[in-house]
Amino acid sequence: MEFETARKRMVDRLLEHDRIEREATAEALRTVPRHAFIPPDRREHAYHDRPLPIGDGQTISAPHMVAIVTDLLALDPGDRVLEIGTGCGYHAAVTAEALARTGRDGRDDHGASVYSVEYDSELADHARETLSEHGYDVDVRTGDGYEGWAEHAPYDRAYLTCAPESLPERVVEQIRPDGCVVGPVGRGQQTLVRAWRREDGDIDRETHGGVRFVPMRRDD
Ligand code: SAH
Repeated sequence: MEFETARKRMVDRLLEHDRIEREATAEALRTVPRHAFIPPDRREHAYHDRPLPIGDGQTISAPHMVAIVTDLLALDPGDRVLEIGTGCGYHAAVTAEALARTGRDGRDDHGASVYSVEYDSELADHARETLSEHGYDVDVRTGDGYEGWAEHAPYDRAYLTCAPESLPERVVEQIRPDGCVVGPVGRGQQTLVRAWRREDGDIDRETHGGVRFVPMRRDD
């Protein structure tokens, strides 16, 4: 299979360049068919390590960026994860796959353990379809990610695939103590941040370098 070979080569290259740390992340990238999540006319580029347009002016992140964010989530078996910015659903599938390879399969008694909020209803509908077609049990909701998704909180982990000016408070509130949120922060210059929520409610922030994601949109 042409796509499968290209995908495995891409992951080998990412590993050679130390872009992937965790085995579960590498296995997830080897497994999720990125080509199936992007528009048909872009599929030939699916396994190049670069971002691609997915419609509505949005882009799917480059695979190395998906790997970095997934690694930073430091997933534990059975974690419940919130994603802000479903886009085409690729990263959500990688997270679900990484979770399944981290230990206990997340798709058990609680139903989905990846929840994702997407601003654009067409992207959300399309992602929902692709995810279910490929057997990924991810719950997708159309809405404003600044609000998080209170119904399923608390989450062990959360991540953003679009950049706010500062970490959305509601999302941080929906993380359990000792959980973390990972995402790009800033307008213009963005920094990849991992924020751990402490027992006393304070936040420990680590920074992980400069990045470029689409800006997080906001209801006016
Ligand atoms: N993880 C995605 C990346 C999509 S790009 C993937 O694998 O394809 C970022 C996404 O964030 C876009 O789809 C954009 O519509 C969405 N987004 C932007 N602002 C948002 C907001 N306030 N709430 C939810 N999603 C938002």
